[in-house]
Amino acid sequence: MELQKNEKYYGFLLQEKREMKDINGTGYLFLHEKSGAKLFYLSTRDDNKVFSVSFRTPPLDSSGLPHILEHSVLCGSKKYPLKDPFVELAKGSMNTFLNAMTFSDKTMYPVASRNQQDFLNLMDVYLDSVFYPNIYRYPEILQQEGWHYVWDEDKGQLSIKGVVFNEMKGAFSSPEQMLFRKTQESLFPDNPYGNESGGDPNHIPELTQDKFLKYHQEYYHPSNAYFYIYGDGDILNHLEYIDEEYLSKFTAIDIDSAICWQNAFEEPVEQSIKYPVSSEENTEDKTYLSLNFVAGDSRNPELHLSMDMLNHLLLGTSAAPLKKKLIQSEIGKDVFGYYDSSIQQPVFGIVVKNSNEESVNQFAEIVFETLQEVVENGFDKKLIESVINSFEFKLREADFGRYPKGLMYGMKMMESWLYDADPYLHLEFTPVLKKIKKSLEEPYFENLIQKYLMNNTHRSLIKVIPEPGLNEAKEEAFAREMEELRDRMTGKEKESLIRNNERLLNWQNEKATKEEIETIPLLSIDDLDPEPEQIPIELSNLGQVPVLRHPLFTNNIVYTNLYFDLKHLDSDQMPAAGLLVSMMGKLSTDQHHYEDLSNEINLHTGGIGFSLEGFPQNGDSMEYEPKLQIKARALTSKNHEMWRLIEEISQGTKWTEKKRMREVIREIKSRLEMSMLQEGHLVSVKRALSYLSPASQFLEATSGIQFYHYIADLDENFEEQFETFVETLKEIHGKIFHINNLTASFTADEKDLDELQKPLLGFFDSLHQNELEEVLKNFRSTNPWKNEGLYLSSDVQYVAKAGNLLQSGYNYAGSLQVLKTIISLDYLWKKIRVTGGAYGAMSGFQRNGNMFFVSYRDPNLEETLKVYDGLASYVSNFSVDDREMTKYIIGTLSRMDTPLTPAMKSEKADGYYFSAVSQEDLVKERQEILSTTPETITTLAEMITESMKDEYICVLGNENRIKNAQGIFQRLIPVLR
Ligand SMILES: [Zn+2]
Repeated sequence: MELQKNEKYYGFLLQEKREMKDINGTGYLFLHEKSGAKLFYLSTRDDNKVFSVSFRTPPLDSSGLPHILEHSVLCGSKKYPLKDPFVELAKGSMNTFLNAMTFSDKTMYPVASRNQQDFLNLMDVYLDSVFYPNIYRYPEILQQEGWHYVWDEDKGQLSIKGVVFNEMKGAFSSPEQMLFRKTQESLFPDNPYGNESGGDPNHIPELTQDKFLKYHQEYYHPSNAYFYIYGDGDILNHLEYIDEEYLSKFTAIDIDSAICWQNAFEEPVEQSIKYPVSSEENTEDKTYLSLNFVAGDSRNPELHLSMDMLNHLLLGTSAAPLKKKLIQSEIGKDVFGYYDSSIQQPVFGIVVKNSNEESVNQFAEIVFETLQEVVENGFDKKLIESVINSFEFKLREADFGRYPKGLMYGMKMMESWLYDADPYLHLEFTPVLKKIKKSLEEPYFENLIQKYLMNNTHRSLIKVIPEPGLNEAKEEAFAREMEELRDRMTGKEKESLIRNNERLLNWQNEKATKEEIETIPLLSIDDLDPEPEQIPIELSNLGQVPVLRHPLFTNNIVYTNLYFDLKHLDSDQMPAAGLLVSMMGKLSTDQHHYEDLSNEINLHTGGIGFSLEGFPQNGDSMEYEPKLQIKARALTSKNHEMWRLIEEISQGTKWTEKKRMREVIREIKSRLEMSMLQEGHLVSVKRALSYLSPASQFLEATSGIQFYHYIADLDENFEEQFETFVETLKEIHGKIFHINNLTASFTADEKDLDELQKPLLGFFDSLHQNELEEVLKNFRSTNPWKNEGLYLSSDVQYVAKAGNLLQSGYNYAGSLQVLKTIISLDYLWKKIRVTGGAYGAMSGFQRNGNMFFVSYRDPNLEETLKVYDGLASYVSNFSVDDREMTKYIIGTLSRMDTPLTPAMKSEKADGYYFSAVSQEDLVKERQEILSTTPETITTLAEMITESMKDEYICVLGNENRIKNAQGIFQRLIPVLR
């Protein structure tokens, strides 16, 4: 049925209907008249359907109310009264996305699924949760998710616990986060952006149950809601359901949730903040300097896109003039820009890392001088063209990795819709791009610089300064505050606190009844595909080189992957190989200066990347295939240009540009440091696995802490080491780019593949073809350690424990994937997140036998290790009914069946090829998953005990906590240099 504008459908008035060519869909904007709810339906042929309901939630203070509310509404509702419907959905639905997010001014509840019934189920649980949450019935929810006092009778100690309280303590450990927070605070003193919607740990305890409920009543009303549905679903059916079940029960109200406009400053401001570093850390070169500009209005689509491009022009590529100037001035070692378009008044930011306080004036001077120069001389037209091209490529390709396309469109939409402008404003990019392209003839970006940067006084200059021992001081101050509070407490108050703690614990430990659990709808096993998806792969040869072809619909884009074997390298050359790939594409070549090269890449391709991969061998814990991977993508019409660039970079890179190499090395070092704080769980797992697995040791040496220390050492002793370092690079280059080492992979439409792979023949000539040492090296080294405590300045821990089930005499089976679902969403979730107060915990079981458990932003250390020790006994006592088991099986398969983009599909298939995983293996694994019973699970207990008994442990985290737990570790090392 054709829907007509100005007609009503189930209470929804169709206000506008719009063909949206750029994303191949039709948009329908509805207003639900009775409740005042807004709904945008983006109808496309994509079966990965997305639903989201969002509320405009300006934070009124920094107590984190919006964030804690986001967590809390997912702790049970009227129709779904169990304590964690979210976890039940994660266990047993076929969702392709399930999460909730708090932003500076909105809270979003998105879900996605490819299964029609599942999609409706998810929608219903989410809608009931946001409109009828159990927070009114159980004050325990705010205590658990937000904060509560804990009384420790034995120690006579008072402290604070809470999921968001801990999550934000972790978030506030990172200097980048502190910078971002300070920036918003400095630029928006008079509106909600000056507050911390996530919650400042110092202010979270100001939140009371009253304020909490009042906020929900006011802001979680349909009149303040933005509904979004995307995909190939039945519009009328969805409208009818939402009206009947929810919206028809509400009457529109006036809600004042609009974000008031922050007036521009007459004078720029300057502020500073201190961040903690560990007591032994050197503070030199550890200051962050940043200039931030409030730039325009997010309801202007042309400005929105062009300011983002301007950021790339000035700071995003090797050719970017401002980045270049700042790096060359040597006031800092890493420079980056950002454009935050997720708020009503977007912010344009320039950040210099690894700098010093004294350089702040020089920093500002260089920025404004360079901007002046750019305005006077104009941008290089080739740079402009290359940046526009790379933006256009990404917009049209719309490859968001594991995130559903519809979700990303929905998030983009909120950047205008939330501020009362049209929701499709930022999704119609063709006309906007056309306007921006006039910048190739006119001083377009140069004018933006003048107006929004040079002549803009609404800006702030921020310093984030390292302070050794600040964490300890903060901890002490907090402990003192708690002591004082304890001493002031009357006996009666203490008693009531103890009772309250007991009540909370009882509530937390109260098991959901069968009836409660069964309110969450469940699909049946028959709804699942009994066969795993088969990604097309054709094996052939071109000359002596193996070729993998993946005929897939790619919308005229070709994805090319080249894999070079690293088996001819010595194991001590691995860190250098890691550095070699990190520098490729960033140095000059025989044909182009590095600035020009970066323009060429952006002008002709969608990106060329270089990385190292270690492919573990199926069923073998010791063997793996170390490879260098070149990953390139381009429009099929630009295939030849892409190949020209691949050849130029892989063969013609000049390893002689000493100054440039040092710049790149410092940038890599700084980026690695960032990842230690933000992705500490990945760092500690990688390290823990390196104690027992050669494949993981390879990754550790080329991208982990060992790699970081290698780089830090090189940076420190650069002058003395440069010559030998370059010799090593040249030597390993010759051992890598050899024709015998190559395997190529192509992904494109079937009809185009023959033509697209032709340039490979020409590429052969550029490769080494000499005799190579025949003996293949056997990389079987592992780290000599068994366990380590890695300390830095952080409020939280990442506690990892590893083992290998093949080495302990067991086999890999599909049931391990079901076990992973069970322990991640039941045992670890309850013990480490709900009771322990960590943000999360993960586990993994791989085909080479590697297995691990790791906690994320964890306030504990020894306690978490004890939780791991209790796993085997939990597993041996595992007993659930059929319905519960079905749930775990569905959850397992839905995790494994995440829809993939063409680029991801081909990489996955290539990975299977190198790891010797056959389609039969995948079929077998799936059958094993489908036939897993509670008994299969209990038999895995012995495997866990045996594989985990060697105590391979790595903890990354707080200095004091690690030093206090010294007895656990063979050695302690400070991570950052
Ligand atoms: Zn959170």
